Amino acid sequence: MGFNIEQIRKDFPILQQQVYNKPLIYLDNGATTHKPQVVIDTLRTIYEKQNSSIHRAIHYLSEQMTSRYESARETVRSFINAASIREIIFTSGATGSINAVAFSFGEKYVAAGDEILISEMEHHSNIVPWQMMCERKGAQLKVIPFDEKGELQLDQLDELLSHKTRIVALTHASNSLGTINPVKEVIRRAHEREIPVLLDGAQMVQHGAVDVRELDCDFYVFSSHKIFGPTGSGVLYGKEALLEEMPPYQGGGDMVDQVSFEGTTYNTLPFKFEAGTSHYTGAIGLAAALDYIRSVGIEEIGRYEQELIRYTREKLEGIEQLKIYGESEKRISVFSFLLDNIHTYDAGMILDKMGIAVRTGTHCTQPVMDHFGISGTIRASLVFYNTMEEVDRLVEGIRTTIQMLS
Ligand code: PLP
Repeated sequence: MGFNIEQIRKDFPILQQQVYNKPLIYLDNGATTHKPQVVIDTLRTIYEKQNSSIHRAIHYLSEQMTSRYESARETVRSFINAASIREIIFTSGATGSINAVAFSFGEKYVAAGDEILISEMEHHSNIVPWQMMCERKGAQLKVIPFDEKGELQLDQLDELLSHKTRIVALTHASNSLGTINPVKEVIRRAHEREIPVLLDGAQMVQHGAVDVRELDCDFYVFSSHKIFGPTGSGVLYGKEALLEEMPPYQGGGDMVDQVSFEGTTYNTLPFKFEAGTSHYTGAIGLAAALDYIRSVGIEEIGRYEQELIRYTREKLEGIEQLKIYGESEKRISVFSFLLDNIHTYDAGMILDKMGIAVRTGTHCTQPVMDHFGISGTIRASLVFYNTMEEVDRLVEGIRTTIQMLS
């Protein structure tokens, strides 16, 4: 298809609407993204014509659906360049994936006195599951701090990585600062000490090519709804050797081999980690979204977003009463900012009335807000269906807000 912004916008029906009689300008893509028609059609056709539970029956519909589900797994595998479909586990989302690793990896490898290393810029989803695991196991959570630009202070990494560290869990890109972290460097230094690394890709996969083998990460997680797929679905990638050793996280149908009252044996990978009826429509819808992204071109998306980032940054920096939080050069199209003496909610409400959807609050990163001593920010998060004209409208909206409230 190639990169044609007008065509791309037409592919997303929700973008065609008006709110408060103004064209919708949706800049809350960090929270969730919209769905192209092809994803909506895929889900609709499943429920109209193809729906059946997977893996369980030999009838026509079940076999068709099973084959679509397993081919969705292959689509995900090739999208992130995993070595095998056994390494692709469908979950309920990035949160579900991190909880699965924190529980299962924790059961196997973490003991009292061990340490888990995360960073100061993690989403709560990549903090709380580790805290819960630390509490269960008597382990300790350590934190890599970030500096005033919102970049990790890697000079502290060697000290933080100790012989007690069992895993490093780090966001690939920050949902509140926009920073793309130097994850390869962290992985290299962790691997020198044979410590595995989990990357939270919830804010990265939708913005550029991710190659898990090139990164050499041990786990990679993301959510379908943030990459133009259905909600309630997501992916856990794990290196096969690690997943093989880890115990199942949940018990139920599909994840078993033989069940008796004397004991149960487990299914092979990846099914060992997919207890119960999977969200197969979500997985198939996700595959449709990934196929769509590929048809647009992930490299082209990356290039276009770089232009969008340059433009947005320049325009926002031109507003005197605005301060950006997170100034890393290596960034995704996410901008957190505050307006002098204006509460984020007031600004968010006024922008909303102009048809501009931004997010206000802590963005599930309270420690980031604590770092700066603020209670929240306004966040504009853009993806490849956003335009420079929308950025202009945002800037106009911000200027009007300042005039009204200052
Ligand atoms: N990690 C990051 C960096 C995020 O931005 C989010 C959601 O905003 C999550 C994890 C959690 O994603 P989900 O709620 O889809 O599981």
